[in-house]
Amino acid sequence: MALGEFSLIDRYFKKEPPAQVIGVGDDAAVLPWANKGSLVVCKDLLVQGRHFFADVAPDALGHKALAVNLSDLAAMGATPIGCLLGLGLPSVDEAWLEKFAAGFLALAQAHGSPLVGGDTVATNDGLFISVTAFGHLPDVQPGLLRRAACVDDRIWVSGNLGAADLALKILQGTLIDEHGVLPQIRQSLEWPEPRVSLGQRLLGVAHAAIDISDGLVQDLGHLLDQSGVGAVLEIARLPAHPSLINLSPDLVGQAMLGGGDAYELCFTAPASRDAEVRAIGRALDLPLTCIGYITAERQLMGLYPNGQCGVLSQKGFDHFAGERS
Ligand code: ADP
Ligand code: MG
Repeated sequence: MALGEFSLIDRYFKKEPPAQVIGVGDDAAVLPWANKGSLVVCKDLLVQGRHFFADVAPDALGHKALAVNLSDLAAMGATPIGCLLGLGLPSVDEAWLEKFAAGFLALAQAHGSPLVGGDTVATNDGLFISVTAFGHLPDVQPGLLRRAACVDDRIWVSGNLGAADLALKILQGTLIDEHGVLPQIRQSLEWPEPRVSLGQRLLGVAHAAIDISDGLVQDLGHLLDQSGVGAVLEIARLPAHPSLINLSPDLVGQAMLGGGDAYELCFTAPASRDAEVRAIGRALDLPLTCIGYITAERQLMGLYPNGQCGVLSQKGFDHFAGERS
């Protein structure tokens, strides 16, 4: 059987990093920065037909290309400081470029992350976009690492879940929009808001964090694996996007657990920090929901409203495993 995305990375690219370096395997790399804290770096690649539709609004695409990277910095608790943009263009369309740049640069400015370089090439097959984002962490602590969750920590998620995945399915034509919700949920897919301020405020409060790009179960699974722990997720507590209220609970539940593109933060914190976590949510006017807790038993269990408990299998996105299963 062909290697999956994460086995491929583990086998060929995951090497033991030098001391004081966080390397392959977290949301971003952390490099020591002489007496000035740490430099945090990440890269995400977006390919036409895989990550976006050819006819997506160019300003939304520019926004999202940077947003997904700032989301990885947020998941480390880092403060953005700048970015690079790599573009592979099948043709030069100036009206498109103007809008793409406007979407990208508006978000860069909003987060104090100036575009400071990159590369532009012609491609034969479709558009691709490669963004590298740089951030900074103060010296006092190592950032919100995936491997830092502790038994009995509470598990929290920001914002709400499910909308981006269902919008994608409707746009792909694999789900019929019976309730006409696309106009209300499309924004979640096309204009994700990276939770940068949340990540910064969680430093010193939360233990571990990850951003949800491939699905809650899969991404939380990475955090649990790296921390050597398990978890119980209380399914009834998962925060659904408000526009999904009339859709089938099964459909919404699957989207919340397995759907990608959410770009919310999932983080763990000791119960003793509950009040601080809630205060951060109020200060940012961002819902933060406690959805479960960390266990010593290395399994991810779902606790259902009827009291039943079952193992949640990893149902997120893997580039080499084909469809979301
Ligand atoms: P995320 O969803 O947070 O962007 P990914 O799941 O894409 O993270 O990647 C998992 C980890 O593997 C990250 O630490 C990423 O930097 C690393 N990684 C992915 N591809 C490569 C590669 N080709 N070379 C080195 N590291 C890689
Ligand atoms: Mg990530």
